[in-house]
Amino acid sequence: MNLKIKFELPEKIEKVIMKNNYKKNTKYSVSQMYKEPRAVVLEARYGDKVQDDLDRRLWSFIGTALHNALEADEFATDNESLTEIRLKYSKMSGKFDHYDAKNKILYDFKQTSKYKVLNATEKSLRDYQIQLSLYAWLLEREGFEVKQIANIIFMRDWHKRDRFKLPEKFATIYHDILKEIDGLPIQQWIDKRIETFDKYMNIPDNELPYCSEEFRWAEPDTFAVMKNKNKNATRLLDTREQAEQYIANIKDTKNKYWIQERQGNKFKRCEYCSISEYCNQYKEGKNEKI
Ligand code: SF4
Repeated sequence: MNLKIKFELPEKIEKVIMKNNYKKNTKYSVSQMYKEPRAVVLEARYGDKVQDDLDRRLWSFIGTALHNALEADEFATDNESLTEIRLKYSKMSGKFDHYDAKNKILYDFKQTSKYKVLNATEKSLRDYQIQLSLYAWLLEREGFEVKQIANIIFMRDWHKRDRFKLPEKFATIYHDILKEIDGLPIQQWIDKRIETFDKYMNIPDNELPYCSEEFRWAEPDTFAVMKNKNKNATRLLDTREQAEQYIANIKDTKNKYWIQERQGNKFKRCEYCSISEYCNQYKEGKNEKI
């Protein structure tokens, strides 16, 4: 028989993967607390209409399979662990991944690109830290002490050649537990977020405040110093002035150096945003009609 590769799944398997059992049963979820109002309001308006695609569901299905395995095996008879309990406060609820009651450590599992770990900074992992701090706050309200919070990261695109920088395809990242966010104690911060989201719920889509550059993971423009017809830049700089200065300092008079302006992607996060097809800011940015 000739080898046949088809980039598709048997119907039944696809159906199981596409099944979405997620129910937040409150108006907002923990993971919406650190989103901007436009994203939260549009998710509330159009979340049900959005067609989930296989690509998006696949990784969350694998995450669920991991939870099920943990629950069914080691932790099922272990009364020192709690897995996936939904906790609620006011109009917000969320389900943490795993709590080690013996050592009082709260874990969340994440499947990410290796670049998330390679480029990790306090700022780039701030959302992870806020999410776990909110779960820790919710758990402590239920009487469970949390001494540490950590994300267990599985790098989907890790390769053996990365091992000099990333010795393993997994990592556990510990964060400080936040007791305040943006200068407010956690409870006040949550109340304020809920108040802000509620305020925008009756505002028409195109009058919602725009998501900020930071939230959209907007990339800055860069200025490449190019040599003759080479495809790769000789040097990549942040401003045109820096690029001009760089060329002015080059002693080589035989070759021609010139500047190529490269526009950064201003809507990087939007490409993963589930309601982007309903978002006028994204469509306007991409010059598409809504
Ligand atoms: S598509 Fe982009 S701009 Fe629109 S809500 Fe989502 S993140 Fe914000």
